[in-house]
Amino acid sequence: MVRVGVLALQGDFLEHVQILRELDGVEAVAVKRVDDLSSVDALIIPGGESTTIGSLIVARGLADKIASLAESGTPIMGTCAGAVLLAKSVSDKTVGPKDQFTLKLMNIEVVRNAFGRQRESFIADVDIDEIGRVRAAFIRAPEIKNAWPPARITGFIDYPGMGRVGVSAQQDSLLALAFHPEITGEKKVYEYFLRLVKA
Ligand code: GLN
Repeated sequence: MVRVGVLALQGDFLEHVQILRELDGVEAVAVKRVDDLSSVDALIIPGGESTTIGSLIVARGLADKIASLAESGTPIMGTCAGAVLLAKSVSDKTVGPKDQFTLKLMNIEVVRNAFGRQRESFIADVDIDEIGRVRAAFIRAPEIKNAWPPARITGFIDYPGMGRVGVSAQQDSLLALAFHPEITGEKKVYEYFLRLVKA
């Protein structure tokens, strides 16, 4: 049984838990405090509001433990706000550089709200290296603007007025997705993520 923690501080963690429960051999664990992280084989940081989730990570003293999980090769997947929280560098499309808290685990630069406001939400197909084509929901999504080794951008979309935009990145067993695979029910993404768990 693989135990997958889902950070359950704010945002759409329940949707991730629901999908994980439909997969064989997986136990989903809601993570709210440090002790909940002690027995997980993988961790998902959901979408929501990255400033809020970040403040709660700090308030609950979770950052060091999450960093040590990453250090020891535990796969971590951040979706939308979760991808923002994994990034070393963050800015906002309209207000520019942001000094909000992030875990700084991935060598990526993200731009929050890069596609505009809630009403500019959309669904698109994305081809992601090693995962294949997935249906992805973008809701006030970030752009993955830049990545440097060992991180690399693994998926792009063509977006009107912006050209080719990075929307997924990978650094060893860390995955950043600008979109919500849990909303479109893309099991392929989870199956790939689970394959990163060391046997
Ligand atoms: N715009 C949000 C943020 O930057 C992310 C939105 C989402 O997770 N759907 O925190």
